[in-house]
Amino acid sequence: MAEVLVLAELNPAAGGPRKSTLEALTAARALGEPAAVVIGAPGTAAGIKDTLAEYGAAKVYVAESDDVDAYLVAPKAEVLAQLVAERSPAGVVIPSSPEGKEIAGRLAIKTGSGFLTDVTEIAADGTATQVAFAGATIVHSQVTVGTPIYTLRGNSVTPEPAPAAGTEETVQVAVSEAAKQTRVLDRVVEQKSNRPELTEAAIVVSGGRGVASAENFSVIEGLADSLGGAVGASRAAVDSGFYPHSFQVGQTGKTVSPQLYIAVGISGAIQHRAGMQTSKTIVAVNKDPEAPIFELADFGVVGDLNTVVPAATEQISAR
Ligand code: FAD
Repeated sequence: MAEVLVLAELNPAAGGPRKSTLEALTAARALGEPAAVVIGAPGTAAGIKDTLAEYGAAKVYVAESDDVDAYLVAPKAEVLAQLVAERSPAGVVIPSSPEGKEIAGRLAIKTGSGFLTDVTEIAADGTATQVAFAGATIVHSQVTVGTPIYTLRGNSVTPEPAPAAGTEETVQVAVSEAAKQTRVLDRVVEQKSNRPELTEAAIVVSGGRGVASAENFSVIEGLADSLGGAVGASRAAVDSGFYPHSFQVGQTGKTVSPQLYIAVGISGAIQHRAGMQTSKTIVAVNKDPEAPIFELADFGVVGDLNTVVPAATEQISAR
C-alpha cells in the first residue's frame, strides 16, 4: 500500500500530539498507509510516537535536531521535501494551522506539486472536499501535478484509533543556509486557564451579543466550568469587547466540532454557523423564539439567558 506522509503537530502544553495530528492520520488512511513525520528538537518523538502508532502510523519518521527547531517553518518544509523525493508518497497531509499552511505552500513549491488547503475529507482516489462560502458550496478537487499536498481543516474528521506498527526511522537532517533566515528567539506556551483548548474540547459553551457585557460572560464561564467545557464567543461578542478575539467561533474565527455545543444569546448567523454546525448536539438559549439558531439546534430553550443559564449551572453543579 502506498505511503502517505502526515506531519505531526505537537501540543507543548499537553506534551503530546495535537488532536489535529490524529485527525490527519485518520483522514490519510483513505489514501494509503500513514507514516507520521515528527520534526523538532532532540527528544521530541519519544513522548508521542506511541500515540501516533495507536492512530495508524505504520512508520514514524523522526527528524530531530537543534537546527530544525531553531528556525521557523523553512526547515520543516525541507525535511518533508527530502522525504517526498526519497519515498514518493501517495500524498502529504498536514494540519491546517497557520504554520501547517505555510509549510504546505513551501513544500508545494519545492516539490513542484499542487496543494489543496483546508480540505475536510480525502477520498481513496485523492479527491479532496473543501467547503466554501460558509458552508453554502462544496468543492471536490484533485491535484494533477506532483505529489498531492493537503492541509486538513481542524475538526472535520473524528480521530479514530487504528493500531499500527509505528516503526521508527531516523531522518538525517541537513538544514540549508537559505532555511536559516528566521531564527526562533523564544517560545511562550500560553496556559491561561484550566479549561480545555477551544478547538479540542468535547463541550463548548459560547456566548453572543445577548450576554451584554464582559462581566456577564462569567455566566457563560460558570456553565462551561460545570460541564468541564471550553468557552467560545460570537464575533459580535468579541467585537464588543466582551471576550478575547482568540475565542471567536465562526467563519473568521475557530472551527469547533464538539460533542455538545451550547449557543447562548447567539442569533445563529451563517458566519457563526460555519464554525460550529458540525457539532454533534447543539443546544440554543435565546429569548427570541424566531432566532435562526433554533433551526439548527437539537434542543432549544426560549428564555432570558440570565435566568436559564445560572439555573442550569446550579443543577449541573449539584450532581
Ligand atoms: P446578534 O445577531 O445580535 O444576536 C444576539 C442574540 O442574542 C439575539 O438572537 C437575541 O435574541 C439574543 N439575546 C439578547 N439578549 C438575550 C437574553 N438576555 N437572553 C437570551 N437571548 C438574548 N460571526 C461569528 O460569530 N463568527 C465569525 O467568525 C463571523 N465571521 C464573519 C465574517 C464576515 C465576513 C461577516 C460579514 C460577518 C461575520 N460574523 C461572524 C458576524 C455575523 O454575521 C453576526 O453578525 C454575528 O455572528 C452575530 O453575533 P450574535 O449572534 O452574538 O449577535
